[in-house]
Amino acid sequence: MSKALRLSEKWFRRGLWLVAFVFAGFLIGLGGTVVGDLPKVEAPLQLDDFLDPQAVQPLRAQVKAAREVQEQAQAALEQAQLQRSRALSEARAERESFNQWLATRSATQRAEHDPEVLARTRRLDVLKEGERRAHQAVEAQEQALLDARQGADRALRRLEALEREGRERLAAEQRRVELRVFLYRLALTLPLLVAAGWLFARKRKSTWWPFVWGFIFFALFAFFVELVPYLPSYGGYVRYAVGIVVTVLVGRYAILALNRYLERQRQAESLPDAQRRRDLGYDAALARLGKGVCPGCERPVDLKNETIDFCPHCGIGLFERCGACSTRKSAFARFCHACGTAAAPATEAPAAGGAPGGPA
Ligand SMILES: [Zn+2]
Ligand SMILES: [Zn+2]
Repeated sequence: MSKALRLSEKWFRRGLWLVAFVFAGFLIGLGGTVVGDLPKVEAPLQLDDFLDPQAVQPLRAQVKAAREVQEQAQAALEQAQLQRSRALSEARAERESFNQWLATRSATQRAEHDPEVLARTRRLDVLKEGERRAHQAVEAQEQALLDARQGADRALRRLEALEREGRERLAAEQRRVELRVFLYRLALTLPLLVAAGWLFARKRKSTWWPFVWGFIFFALFAFFVELVPYLPSYGGYVRYAVGIVVTVLVGRYAILALNRYLERQRQAESLPDAQRRRDLGYDAALARLGKGVCPGCERPVDLKNETIDFCPHCGIGLFERCGACSTRKSAFARFCHACGTAAAPATEAPAAGGAPGGPA
C-alpha cells in the first residue's frame, strides 16, 4: 500500500489514511453515544439492599437512642462533678477556719464560746452532708453513662454482625453484576471484533480499504476501551489468561504469515526470470531497488557494481542491454534511458535465455 512512487498517488494514499482515521473517529463517537444512551442495565448496589430491615431498623434506633442518653448523661455528669468540687472546696474552707478558731479558743479557754462551737460544728455537718450528696449525684450520673454506653455497644455489636453478613452477600452480588456487565459488553463488542477480523483477513487491500481500516481501528478501540477494563478479574487470572490467548493468536498469525511469505518467495524464485519481473509490479520493484535490495528476493545487492547483471542470491536479471542501442540499463525499466526504445520484449513475454542463471 505504500509502494506507490508517483507523487500524487503518494499524497492520495496519505489522504486516504487520514480518511480511515477520521472514519474510525466518527464510528467511535457514534458507538460512545449509543452506549451512553442505552438504559442503565444495572442499578448501583447498596449495603441496605442486603440487610433485613425488620432486624436492622430497631437496632439502629436503639443505638441512636443510647447515644442520645449517653450524651445527656455526659452533660449531667459534668454538672454534677462541678457541684461536687464546689461542695468540696466550701467544706474544706469551713473546716480550716473552724480548726483555726478552735486553736485560738483552746489558747484563751473562754467558756462563753461553747454555744458557738456547737453552731459551727452543726454548720460543718451540713456542709459534709452536701458533700456526700454531691458524691452520690456524680456516681449516679457515672452509672447512667456506663449503662448507656454498654447498651449502645451491645446494639452496635449485633448490628455489625448483621452488616458483616450483608456485606458478604453484597460482594457476591457485585461479582455477579460485574460478570453480567462484562457479558453485555462482550455481546456488543464481539460482533465488531469478528467483523473486523474478517475484514482484515479478506478486505484490507480492497478498493475500499480506508473504510475497512477505519472499521478495524474502531473495533480495536472498542475492544481495548469498552471491553478490556470490564473483564472480571477473579484475582488477575482472567486478565492474564486473556492476554496469553490474544498473544498466542497474534503470534500464530505472524508465524503463519511468515511461512506463507517464505513459501510464496520460494515459488516465485523458481519461476522463469521474465515472468518474475512481470509479476513483481513496477512500483514495488523500483521501491526495492531504491533501498538497495534485489526486487525478487529482497536480499541486499550491490547495484552500483557495473559487473553485476544478475542477483547472486536468486538469479533474477537486474540489468540488461537495450535491444536497439545496447546501452546497459535496468531490466525493470520500461524504456531505455538512452534511446527511448520500449523494453516490451523483455517484460511482456518470456525472453529466450531469460531463465535464472541462463545467460553467461
Ligand atoms: Zn535476488
Ligand atoms: Zn536504447
